[in-house]
Amino acid sequence: MHSFSDWNQLHGIDAATLEDIIAAFRSGAVSTQPYTPSEITSRRGDGPSLAKQNECYEKLVIPAFLSAFGNSATVLAALTSIRFTGFDEEDAKVPYTLDCGKGDAPRIVMSWWGRPADLICLAHETAHALQIILSDHERMAPLARETCAFLGELLVIEHARRHHPSLFALLHDVWRAESRRYLGADLDTLAAAVADPTTPYHYRQNYPLARLAAVHLFRRRKPGQLHALFASGESAMPHLPLEAMANRAGDIANYLPPMPAPDAERPSMEAYRSLGAMVLLDIDRLQGPSEKRIEAYYGELLRHLQDQTAYVTLDSDDRPVGYATWATRPGDGAVTLTRQSAPFGDHLMVQKSLERHLGWSGRVAAHHAKSAQQAQIAW
Ligand SMILES: [Zn+2]
Repeated sequence: MHSFSDWNQLHGIDAATLEDIIAAFRSGAVSTQPYTPSEITSRRGDGPSLAKQNECYEKLVIPAFLSAFGNSATVLAALTSIRFTGFDEEDAKVPYTLDCGKGDAPRIVMSWWGRPADLICLAHETAHALQIILSDHERMAPLARETCAFLGELLVIEHARRHHPSLFALLHDVWRAESRRYLGADLDTLAAAVADPTTPYHYRQNYPLARLAAVHLFRRRKPGQLHALFASGESAMPHLPLEAMANRAGDIANYLPPMPAPDAERPSMEAYRSLGAMVLLDIDRLQGPSEKRIEAYYGELLRHLQDQTAYVTLDSDDRPVGYATWATRPGDGAVTLTRQSAPFGDHLMVQKSLERHLGWSGRVAAHHAKSAQQAQIAW
């Protein structure tokens, strides 16, 4: 593989999809953070010792992968078969994982200094080795391979979040620092290559999309999905959420801050927060409810909150993306939406979350009073 267009062909990605993903990333429409602010603990203090590589592998990496892969015996056997060696001289070299062929376990070559970054590296390379074994040595496209590796990093970070909060803080710092390069200089290089497909191929061009895809998959992970991706070998590409990320292009970036975690002990505070979120969402429309007289507007929304006929949808970053209000017909309880607002283009997300909230699907009659032209297209 020599030029960037060869890379495109190998992965079966067209330039428009790449442009859309980059545009979606630049407008802030795709998430770059594996965690919402409320999920991040920043407890500093003593964590498990990182002095020995083999202990870190046995006590942190293996349990992290096992719990994410549903304690699969196949995965445990694979993880215990992986072999490790260091570099000949202890100077800085790029770590790698060697596929030693069928019937032979992969070998990870890396240095160990006992730093949090070394543990992230160990997680990354372990994911490469596991993906080689589960794919039965079938060659996986580099973009998919690196997505697996970044997911492996996140599995260990997540394991630390649950069991070793002080280690989590350190690992999360490493993740963020490394993301700055992957989604900074590396993404600029990728964007330049997309603009000129004759650009010589460089392996780092895989990292930005793999980073974004890993975050996307990690945040929406479902049982069995990880195993399917790691075992997919040559057919890995359909497992990556490239289309979903590209589809975010053109959405207006949501600049609203995340909502604080719900506070069940202070329901009136919760009501005010919801009301505030609705107002902010409505201000985003040029015409509509935000132009109503404030007493009427406030009175109407407050009544919905009191009747519990209003629902604010948050995205995976806890930011409000839209809301809906509805009326329930006395007697048969049929629901008619009286307003649906999704100023950033998240109509489907609002609809889905509303259906979940109401506990059923497909029975909402929409009443498009003045509630957004866009809504009628998407709903
Ligand atoms: Zn890698």
